[in-house]
Amino acid sequence: MDFSHVERNFKRLKYGEITLKEGLLSKEDTLHIFKISHWRDYLKLFYLASKVRDYFKKEIEITSTIHITNICKVNPKCLYCGFAAGTSKNGYYEPFRISNEDIKKSAIAIEKSGICRVSCSSAHGYEGREVLRALRIVKENTNLEVLVNAGGDLTKESIIKMKEYNIDCICCNLETTNIQLFKKIKPGENLEDRIEICRLVKKHGIELSSGLLLGVGESYGDRVNHLLFLKELGVDEIPIMGFNPYPGTPMENHPKCLPLEQGKTIAIVRLMFPNIRITSPTPTIGPELIQFALMGGANNIATVIPDNHPMNIKGVGNPKTGNLREVLKMIKELGLKAKLCNTSFK
Ligand code: SF4
Repeated sequence: MDFSHVERNFKRLKYGEITLKEGLLSKEDTLHIFKISHWRDYLKLFYLASKVRDYFKKEIEITSTIHITNICKVNPKCLYCGFAAGTSKNGYYEPFRISNEDIKKSAIAIEKSGICRVSCSSAHGYEGREVLRALRIVKENTNLEVLVNAGGDLTKESIIKMKEYNIDCICCNLETTNIQLFKKIKPGENLEDRIEICRLVKKHGIELSSGLLLGVGESYGDRVNHLLFLKELGVDEIPIMGFNPYPGTPMENHPKCLPLEQGKTIAIVRLMFPNIRITSPTPTIGPELIQFALMGGANNIATVIPDNHPMNIKGVGNPKTGNLREVLKMIKELGLKAKLCNTSFK
């Protein structure tokens, strides 16, 4: 495949002849690149995407996690979910809601490890109160940047309250914008509710993170339409998550999304959205395979757990999470620099 016009577009972007919003790919280009299969095309794509990432992002961010509660009131449960209580023996399975003290201990441990950012997530059913509780405690006790994720379960009031507590970013993943597919894999939720939350977050001037769940039956055309929709919404961060089956769930026999497919999608997203945060959570790509995400131009590795984290954290999408030491080693081996907020690992 010929990528020379993409390289030309990158030069034009640097000279201000095209805008960041336009990005480096047309809709046709995007669809075309999704269909590459030859290794030479993958290498060229990764080379270009990394070059664009390195131009805009000098360091790789690392985001850790605190899970607040897995007691989810969505019914029926999402077909792929292994996080909510009772969904998969490989997940948490038993219901939990962590105490204020455990939130505080986890946040302090994360900050001590050098990580600068934490994601606090809760299951559905609290209108944002559970993540608001976590946000308040983390901000009172640390300087960590905070992303919260309560899925499609925030209200205007909880979003305004979060702004008062200096929230840095709110995540509401649409997973797929193919309405029939959304209904099939998330029968207890409405896509429109999630879109409304995304709009509210932007309306209140808060950073919006909204991602794609890959390999759940969507077509390449669906992915392109989804990405164009995120462009319209004005997202600030896109998490790219590959489906990984959890035993015991209705999708346990559905094939997992391969790391190369995730890397390719990340690279396409980088060329479409040259300067935003592109996130790869370690469980969804497989913690030992994050080099595919980094080569594809990701600049944030999420669900990274330091040795001193006091909780037994399991991943969303796969129970295995990334260990901080191993993630830092991988970043270094690729010649990249990790963003750390204290000196212990520098
Ligand atoms: S994916 Fe989220 S909303 Fe769906 S069942 Fe799991 S915890 Fe609940």
